[in-house]
Amino acid sequence: CFLIIFVISPLVPIVGFKQTSPWTDLLPSDLESLDIAARLQVDEASLAMASTDFGRIVSVIPAAVLYPTSVEDIASLVKFSYNSPLPFKISPRGQGHSCRGQAMVENGVVIDMTSLNRAKYNNNHSNNNSSSNDRIRVLYDGSMGVYFADVGGEQLWIDVLHATLEHGLAPVSWTDYLYLTVGGTLSNAGISGQAFRYGPQITNVYELDVVTGKGDLITCSKKINPELFYAVLGGLGQFGIITRASIQLHPAPKRVSSIILHTVKWVRMLYDDFSRFTRDQEHLISLNGDHGLLGDFYGLHFVEGSLIMNQANPNNWRSSFFSPSDQVKIASLRAPGGIIYYIEVAKYYYHDSDNIKIDRELEDQLQGLKFLGGFRFTKDVTFVEFLNRVRRGELALQSKGQWDVPHPWLNLFIPKSQIQKFSHVFTEIIAKNDKALGTILFYPFNRNKWDDKMSAVIPAEDVFYTLGLLHSSEFDDWEALEDQNKQILKYCDENGIKIKQYLPNYSTREEWKSHFGDKWKIFLETKGLFDPKMIMTPGQRIFH
Ligand code: FAD
Repeated sequence: CFLIIFVISPLVPIVGFKQTSPWTDLLPSDLESLDIAARLQVDEASLAMASTDFGRIVSVIPAAVLYPTSVEDIASLVKFSYNSPLPFKISPRGQGHSCRGQAMVENGVVIDMTSLNRAKYNNNHSNNNSSSNDRIRVLYDGSMGVYFADVGGEQLWIDVLHATLEHGLAPVSWTDYLYLTVGGTLSNAGISGQAFRYGPQITNVYELDVVTGKGDLITCSKKINPELFYAVLGGLGQFGIITRASIQLHPAPKRVSSIILHTVKWVRMLYDDFSRFTRDQEHLISLNGDHGLLGDFYGLHFVEGSLIMNQANPNNWRSSFFSPSDQVKIASLRAPGGIIYYIEVAKYYYHDSDNIKIDRELEDQLQGLKFLGGFRFTKDVTFVEFLNRVRRGELALQSKGQWDVPHPWLNLFIPKSQIQKFSHVFTEIIAKNDKALGTILFYPFNRNKWDDKMSAVIPAEDVFYTLGLLHSSEFDDWEALEDQNKQILKYCDENGIKIKQYLPNYSTREEWKSHFGDKWKIFLETKGLFDPKMIMTPGQRIFH
């Protein structure tokens, strides 16, 4: 048994193996007598794993790492700390895809949430074998007449996708990248091009199980324990650990015939003018198709916008959409200031839609858009290819050793009324930096698809944009990019642009208060109710 598990994952301690590594004096000694001590590890590999993240900017060393095999293990650790005269800090870690140490904890315990998954099945995400995973179940609620996925907080969205597709169903709101945990994205918001229509991932959840900062396992929803439910969604891990979420499902797109394999029509349109680019995006997100349990027959399912700076390759790690001949054509464009913008939209196929009908609807919806003549590109792909489009780029970067490098990312929300003023950031700050070749996302949301009772913070206007500065990892000059981030924030501050950070990163209490604005009071009160000893998730640096 020892050998087999070791071969599968040499860095991961053996689940259930009695603690043999030296104990740490950073934790109370009576913890050692608990059953979970066997799953607490203090070895070098565990501490190294838990003291790093995707950002590769911050490194904080914990006292130990818990590899839970059950939700009870998690509750038992948190309860122990809560009842201890000297409570220690605890942080759940999903995939560790944060950029600034948000899942780290100094001298406390990091809970490797994915260990719950490993205890259940063989962690082989590349195979479509999720049916063997009993931490993802597709269920039907007769009273509401809805299907939902009941999933562990540690589950990856890619596995949720495969498991639900086996039932012809799928969640409607996604992130661009699927190798993130359900608990990790629900602690932020979970955004992508579907959110204009379906809202972020946090608004597509019916119910949660949460181990609070007192170690209690509580089920919550809009009706049961609503104060915990609303606080946890977008709550940056401050109130407890999401161990289960039930997620709304809709019918998945379907192949319209046995000879046509694709289920998604994917279009990109190029612009050389910021006003046209944004006006057209706002028009597209105002087209909200009807959607119901029988499927979606009208409207777009995905709208995102991006920028290509300084003649960079229009294909990048996030997707290789453009063919070589498209790339040559795009390279011939001489856009003002060297900035090309593109809108990408997707339309899903359903059972009674066919190619002709889809094309007709698409023409209807794209009519009147002001993109550059001749610069509209279309592709037909499968639903999984579309949703999992970032994975290929990730694997390519991994094979070149360019994935595990510093990522000083900056993500902002910007009110629609201020985007013209904000465009200075593109023309005068980013375009002037010849190293800024990475992915730049810029696309809008409808505020009415968000729920203001949740902890996630967004601008006050009906429409707001997200900026994703996902800096290229082809070079490691991250401090220069970090300086650029500071310059952007300074420009917004000095020019009264009321941005909100997404995946926020602040270090002082005053900054957090200003970030949460009107929500701060309730955030603080709810913290007092569910994590009064401030045990949970210090890596966000809100209360610590
Ligand atoms: P971690 O980094 O492990 O944790 C994030 C935070 O959540 C930490 O504070 C942690 O303590 C807390 N946490 C983790 N699990 C739980 C839990 N079960 N209960 C409570 N708190 C928990 N975001 C988007 O919205 N849209 C995107 O398209 C998108 N694309 C991305 C692409 C890449 C390549 C990367 C690296 C990130 C992307 N993100 C995107 C950001 C991502 O959603 C967040 O960083 C998310 O937190 C990562 O999930 P994780 O499982 O790695 O969480």
